[in-house]
Amino acid sequence: MKILVINAGSSSLKYQLYDMTAETVLASGSVERIGMETSIVTQAVPGRPDMREVSEILDHVTAVKRLLDMIAHPEYGVIESIAEVQAVGHRVVHGGEVFKQSVLVDETVKLEIRQLFDLAPLHNPAHMMGITAVETNLPGVPQAVVFDTAFHQTMPEVAYLYPIPKVLYRRHKIRRYGFHGTSHHYVSDQAAELLGRPLDELKMISCHIGNGASCTAIQHGVSVDTSMGLTPLEGLMMGTRSGDLDPAIVPFTMNKEDLTLSDVNSMLNKHSGLVAISGLSSDMREIEEAMAEGDRNARLAFDMYVYRLRKYIGAYTAVMDGVDALVFTAGIGENSSSLRAEVCKNLSYLGVKLDDAKNGMRTKKPREISAPDSRVRVLVIPTNEELLIARDTYKLVTEQASSLSGQREEGTDA
Ligand code: AMP
Repeated sequence: MKILVINAGSSSLKYQLYDMTAETVLASGSVERIGMETSIVTQAVPGRPDMREVSEILDHVTAVKRLLDMIAHPEYGVIESIAEVQAVGHRVVHGGEVFKQSVLVDETVKLEIRQLFDLAPLHNPAHMMGITAVETNLPGVPQAVVFDTAFHQTMPEVAYLYPIPKVLYRRHKIRRYGFHGTSHHYVSDQAAELLGRPLDELKMISCHIGNGASCTAIQHGVSVDTSMGLTPLEGLMMGTRSGDLDPAIVPFTMNKEDLTLSDVNSMLNKHSGLVAISGLSSDMREIEEAMAEGDRNARLAFDMYVYRLRKYIGAYTAVMDGVDALVFTAGIGENSSSLRAEVCKNLSYLGVKLDDAKNGMRTKKPREISAPDSRVRVLVIPTNEELLIARDTYKLVTEQASSLSGQREEGTDA
């Protein structure tokens, strides 16, 4: 079965076409600058030169049409006809409390996603545009939605409620949701496989640290706490986001600096984190380069980033009464051996011991980087959210097909 995975943003759309026979990626690409005269379509096919086209793409319907033209192109496509696309899986950022797992799209699901627009005003409307665009271009093809929040719906009340008046939760569903769930879910499955132990026996802390960053306590396969909250601003220090801070800073700063709410929102989301402390960049590679040249602000940004992550690791060890495995993933987690070493340095009380040679190895493969006598196993697992979306979509579509054929057989028997 060929499954198209789509991550639709407001002005861009990323895609991957999977052949689920061996879970291989046939093509991947993106449409950027949707709504502009110079939209850019790119496509990569393993073993072939990359394709790039510039044309005017004014909306998501045309963007999906262009990507379908690309994958079924007679010269540089990978399928003969778009009829080969049997299902589409979408990444959706916010599933609120309604969606505890991935589901097939129907009218009710679409209505529920719309009702969550308030909680993710930048993301969910764009995802809906992607879903509608697929309906227009591939009528009748089943679509599934996979939510960033769903994996964290297992968090207990003590972890997901904020200590603020409960009426705010009742009226507006203000609570902690957590994000990056697809990634935390994927790497925890992979980690259990690598360790050769059942997931439901393990206590794990997964650190998804890229431009956005979050840390999750996964006990016996389910998320019991995670660092992001109502929005992806809470928790760890990130590239441009502050992470945790005293909420009183908001009114105090507004007052002292004569800022509006929107100014402060933008400050905390776009001008804080690594970029604010280093005064240089939100990109960890640039921070590490500057640090190597003796830049003290870059060093401070790095140290604060590590310090705040280590605090969460300590907290989640307490939450689970122990930890068996620590997992690093996403851009920084997968690539920065110096950051991993620094984070693990002060975890010796837990019995964390890295193997420096293994930690320094450059490979894209999932691997263990702890020493044989480390009480806590430390792993690096490249994340693959698209694959998990493709797998969930495949499962939902095949389950639906077999339930329909079961119903038909029952009908015949009767
Ligand atoms: P992501 O959002 O997962 O794509 O991660 C982006 C982050 O990963 C950026 O801060 C990059 O600087 C960082 N990153 C990627 N490669 C490296 C590397 N080799 N060393 C340090 N950081 C890296």
